[in-house]
Amino acid sequence: MKFNFITLFPNLVSPYFNDSILGRATQKGIIEINYINPRNYTKQKHKKVDDYMISGGAGLLMSVQPLCDAIDELGDTHIIYLTPVGKKFNQNDAKRLANLSNITFICGRYEGIDERVIESKVNEVFSIGDFVLTGGELAAMSLCDAISRNIPGVLGNINSLDIESFESGILEAPSFTKPNIFDGLSVPSAFLKGNHSIIIALKNHMALCKTRFFRTDLYQLLNRQNFKEKR
Ligand code: SAM
Repeated sequence: MKFNFITLFPNLVSPYFNDSILGRATQKGIIEINYINPRNYTKQKHKKVDDYMISGGAGLLMSVQPLCDAIDELGDTHIIYLTPVGKKFNQNDAKRLANLSNITFICGRYEGIDERVIESKVNEVFSIGDFVLTGGELAAMSLCDAISRNIPGVLGNINSLDIESFESGILEAPSFTKPNIFDGLSVPSAFLKGNHSIIIALKNHMALCKTRFFRTDLYQLLNRQNFKEKR
């Protein structure tokens, strides 16, 4: 999979892909990260890539020409713009996009980008949450990471994806490692007894409790689905 980052700040992004799981995936050639700086495409004076908003208002906007020219050079690619205005990205999106072979992220800066870039070039717009960042780089890196771990060969153990949060519409159960007791806090005793079916039942129960407590929206969805299935 090739990922292209259209960003004014490639140095903010590149260190993330030098280490750990994604660093190894890059070294193995499973993923490739490419950086495109719109500044190299601008036809404006002094390599300017931004301008005032025509409607007025505070702040600058990334201009249409450098972004469109940069995109046109990329050829066949699925273009994603990161913006608080977009649909909230989720695990199903990560899995679906992992089947593609070339994805481009447009990282906005200032007050964002000229809307005509979105209208003419962008395939999907995603937000990573209801808050505003200073730039799209962190959001694009989050998507790139979430997509990459669904590409075969990126994770050491692909089975670890099966029991992760959101996999069956619920959050992952609480997990523990050694020691069995720390500071008076013990791991659930059933985990220590080795009865596999009891451990699985307990984990399912705890996963449901956690989902109900932290994500009532997911829990209600689950209840609605169960209700429909029973009818
Ligand atoms: N004026 C924009 C608005 O109110 O929607 C916010 C612009 S923000 C300061 C600059 C850039 O950061 C955006 O163009 C976008 O690329 C990125 N960004 C900020 N928050 C984001 C979020 N929650 N999800 C995805 N991208 C975000």
